[in-house]
Amino acid sequence: METGDALSLWVTETHQNSMRLGFKVEKTLFSGRSRFQQVDVVQTRDHGVMLLNDGLVMLSERDEFIYHEMIAHVPLFVHPNPRRVLVIGGGDGGTVREVLRHPGVERVVMVEIDEMVVNACRKYMPEVSCALDDPRLELRIEDGIKFVAETEEGFDVILVDSTDPIGPAAPLFNKEFYSGVSRLLTEEGILISQAESPFYNQEIQRPMLLNQRPFFEKLHIYLFSNLTYPGGLWSFGFASGKRCPLKDFDPDRPARSGIETRYYNPGVHRASFMLPTFMSRHLEGVIDPLDAAGLEA
Ligand code: SAM
Repeated sequence: METGDALSLWVTETHQNSMRLGFKVEKTLFSGRSRFQQVDVVQTRDHGVMLLNDGLVMLSERDEFIYHEMIAHVPLFVHPNPRRVLVIGGGDGGTVREVLRHPGVERVVMVEIDEMVVNACRKYMPEVSCALDDPRLELRIEDGIKFVAETEEGFDVILVDSTDPIGPAAPLFNKEFYSGVSRLLTEEGILISQAESPFYNQEIQRPMLLNQRPFFEKLHIYLFSNLTYPGGLWSFGFASGKRCPLKDFDPDRPARSGIETRYYNPGVHRASFMLPTFMSRHLEGVIDPLDAAGLEA
């Protein structure tokens, strides 16, 4: 954390040693070091409470709804009847909060490796972690790699809400993990994976999707805005054996669900899969192309 002038404090995220993202801070609420990472929670001036892991912004109260609505509602409105959901990571609780808004979901297993993140968010970000006591949720503090390798339980949707491929999260981006995930998914199953920045992380994005390719008939990527991530545009991978994110999406289904959102809607759902040309070119031959009508070309 850097101190600006005597009266102002800033939290600054340095990205690839070539750019910085800074947020004015009013006070530090928590600072600790777990076995896995540095965990900081700060009260910012204009972005609410903010969680940082190893100095990287994970989420802020101001914009977390975007990430959590897009990771959860896209797959849950494409899957015909999502009942059992697995979340890997997601220690702040925002993803499971959105998943549990779907009344048809009967069971969520959340596997977060770092209890310090969960405890900090329970205490300082109650709006985000509010669903962690839902009776449908089983919260496991363990390595997601180990859980996926050892469990025999099947899931309709698996959401990898992880940090970047560094340290304990690195194996969450490799072929062996995706092989294990494909084994756990039911026939209509869908995997969503945190797929980094289209601008700054192409060197991660392409290999991670190539690692998924052998196990999934359908492979796509979709985009969303994020105020607190470098470049302001982020992505999720969408992988499935059978389900196409647009052809199998009924735009009337979100309204019928009665789930109110602040970012996600049927138009955003469809538009998020329409990629800029530089991305289509970069991922040519890796993901399944969609034409302008959103149909698999
Ligand atoms: N949901 C937040 C957001 O809006 O972007 C950020 C993601 S969440 C904080 C990322 C979590 O992944 C961290 O809490 C980290 O501890 C967890 N994680 C990293 N590697 C993991 C692993 N191998 N198994 C389980 N959780 C892991």
